[in-house]
Amino acid sequence: MRALQLVEDRKLVISDLPEPDAPGPGEVTLRVKAVALNHIDVWGWRGMAFAKRKMPLVIGAEASGVVEAIGPGVSNVLPGQLVAVFGARTCGLCKPCREGRDNLCEHVGGVHGFHLDGFAQELINMPARLLVPAPPGCDEVGAALAPVTFGTVEHMLFDNAKLQPGETILIHAGGSGIGSAAIQLAKKTGCTVITTVGSDDKIERARALGADHVINYRTDRFEGMVRKITKKKGVDVVFEHVGKDTFAASMFCLKRGGRLVTCGSTSGVSTEVNLMMLFQQQLKLLGSFGCRMENMADAMQKIARGVVQPVIDTEVRLEDIDRALTRLETRQVFGKIILRME
Ligand SMILES: [Zn+2]
Repeated sequence: MRALQLVEDRKLVISDLPEPDAPGPGEVTLRVKAVALNHIDVWGWRGMAFAKRKMPLVIGAEASGVVEAIGPGVSNVLPGQLVAVFGARTCGLCKPCREGRDNLCEHVGGVHGFHLDGFAQELINMPARLLVPAPPGCDEVGAALAPVTFGTVEHMLFDNAKLQPGETILIHAGGSGIGSAAIQLAKKTGCTVITTVGSDDKIERARALGADHVINYRTDRFEGMVRKITKKKGVDVVFEHVGKDTFAASMFCLKRGGRLVTCGSTSGVSTEVNLMMLFQQQLKLLGSFGCRMENMADAMQKIARGVVQPVIDTEVRLEDIDRALTRLETRQVFGKIILRME
C-alpha cells in the first residue's frame, strides 16, 4: 500500500508499505479517504528543534476513513461506515479519558503524524474507541475536518472561551483552515465577528463566511482597527493562533475581563506578556490543544445540517504534497488543503 513518509527535513517520499495485519481485539482496519493538512504537518516537514521525531514517519494528523474490517469486541462502528479519526493516542482509562476530556489524557501516547505514524497511508489499524462515526450528510471531506479544523475550534470557542451570543470576537487569519471555521461558528452563535486577512483578495471571501469586519493586517494595524470598530471598548474574545507576531496586540484588543484563547503559534513560540495589563484588566489567557471526541461529533452534526461548511482551498494527490505544503507555509491558502488517498 502507498504511504507518504517524511524521511528527512523537507523530504517526503511515497513509499510502498506492507498492509496492516487483521485488526486485533478492539481494533479496526481503516481505509483512509481524505487527509486534511495542518500547520503541524508544515512543522513536521520543515523540522522543529523542540520536537524529536522518529524517521521515517508517515505524515497526516487529521483524516477520515471507511471501516474496512473490525476486530473482536468492536461494537461502536460497522464495516463500511465513514468515520473521523481522533488524532492523539489516548489511554482511554485515566480519569480525564473516562470523563470525555480526551485531550487531557494523563497517559497520551503521542499525536499521529507528529510523534506516531500518521494517516497519509491507504490502510491503518486504529483502536475503535478513537473513531467517531460521521452522520448522514457529512461526507469524507467534512469528516476529515472534524478532528482538528472544526473540533479544535469548537473546543476553543465553546469549552474554553465560553463564547456567548451577542459578544464580539476577533478571529486572526480568517483565511486559514481554523480561521474560516471559527468565523462560521462564531457568526452562527450570534456574535459580531472581526477577522484579519493578509491580502485584499481574501476580504470578500471572509465576508462571505460571515465576518462583519475584515482587516487586512498587512496594510492596517489590527489593534487600531479593532479599537475603532468597537468604539474603544475592545472585544470579548480573541481567537489566537498566530503567536509571536500578534499576541501582545491581541491582548491589547480585549475589553476588561476579556478572554484570549490560543491553539497555535505559527509565527513563533515566545512572546512578552504585559502582566500589569493581565491583572489590571482581569484578562483570561486560555491555552487549547486538540479537542474532545464529543467536539468532533458536534462538528460533524453541524456540517451535516449545513450550519457550517468546509472551506476547501485545494484538493491534491500524494504526488503534489510538496506544492501543497509550500502553499500552506507561505500562507497563500484560503481554507483547507485536502489530500485524497485514492
Ligand atoms: Zn487517558
